[in-house]
Amino acid sequence: MNSLPKLIQQCKDLAFDLQFTRSREWKAQEEGRVVVGYMPVYFPREIIHAAGGLPVAIFGGGDRKQIIKGDAYYQSYICHIPRSIIDLALDGHTNHFDGYLFPSICDVIRNLSGLFKLNKLGKFVKYMDFPQNFLPEIGGVFYQQEMQHVLHYIKEINGKEVTAHDLNHSIALYNTNRRLIARMYDIRQEFPWRMTIEELYYVLRAGTVIPVEEHNDILEQVVAHMEKEIGEPQDKIKVVVSGAFCEQPAVGLIKAIEEAGCYVVDDDYMLGSRMILGDIDPSTDKPLEAIANAYIHQSQYSSSIYDVHNPKEYRLAKIVQDRGADGVIFASASFCDPSLLDAPIFQKAFDEMGIRYISFQYSENINQFKVIKEQVGAFSDSIKLWEDDKALVIA
Ligand code: SF4
Repeated sequence: MNSLPKLIQQCKDLAFDLQFTRSREWKAQEEGRVVVGYMPVYFPREIIHAAGGLPVAIFGGGDRKQIIKGDAYYQSYICHIPRSIIDLALDGHTNHFDGYLFPSICDVIRNLSGLFKLNKLGKFVKYMDFPQNFLPEIGGVFYQQEMQHVLHYIKEINGKEVTAHDLNHSIALYNTNRRLIARMYDIRQEFPWRMTIEELYYVLRAGTVIPVEEHNDILEQVVAHMEKEIGEPQDKIKVVVSGAFCEQPAVGLIKAIEEAGCYVVDDDYMLGSRMILGDIDPSTDKPLEAIANAYIHQSQYSSSIYDVHNPKEYRLAKIVQDRGADGVIFASASFCDPSLLDAPIFQKAFDEMGIRYISFQYSENINQFKVIKEQVGAFSDSIKLWEDDKALVIA
């Protein structure tokens, strides 16, 4: 077993490798291998794996790439991530990718898929609509058809006919992945000092750019370390971070929240890796239906999902309660419509329920956040000083 610092460093290097080197190596190792890039928030990676492909998340350039071409494609009053994604693609960072998938989340991502088509990037580009109808016979069937389209695109490249056995095998691997990630969060809930949120972030983000088998191996080692008594508890409140599911904050900001006095015991930074709660049935003769059913019945709350019968404000409140958190930090990328449109809904409900929160906005390329750190510090101090003022009441 590797040491924890070594594993963390390995994950950090993988997570921020803007040349996507591991996927280049993986593709070169065998004839017919297919690399498929996907954008946040969520994509069922199982189907790409089953088709002999490697799904690779593209989270933008963060604060590590100077944007030149991207600014020519987008107006100033939208978020930053589409500029850095198109810049990465036009500068050849993803020129070994065979295709690109754009899950539906907002108009920005929709337009980005159009720009990829216009620039003839990859052998296929698909904007993938996810169901907003949560009836299995309607939304579920539609979702299965969308997944069939993706499998068809990949088959045109490598000729692989995907069987139920292939899909079940991939589902089982991703089930293991989800279980190990959930275990890390459960350990952190009780012992958040055993691994910082920054380190956890590296470990999860690395998993979005390497084969799931390799990530599972890393996760098993990390969990084994976290199960030991390591680190020293500090006087910090516990918070949940919500709203940062697409464009990612700079790592310095992720780190600053904990440095300012908050243990982050849950978050949605890498929501796509945690979107499905629990296992997907890995032993069925209709695996696409199993994936669709999992999305319909077991998906995490998200700004990309409008499920009128399952209000997200209560779902977030439940997470706060289950994690024993003292409050919520709403962190939204500047101009992120899905996140910013949800914020007032959450905040109104939380005012009524007595859940304390603060909110701020960020941009992936901004590494100056003194004001945010002071705000978070004041939030933490106020909770420590007036801890018993409000009781949590979830309707
Ligand atoms: S950050 Fe928000 S607005 Fe921008 S692409 Fe992502 S979901 Fe859309």
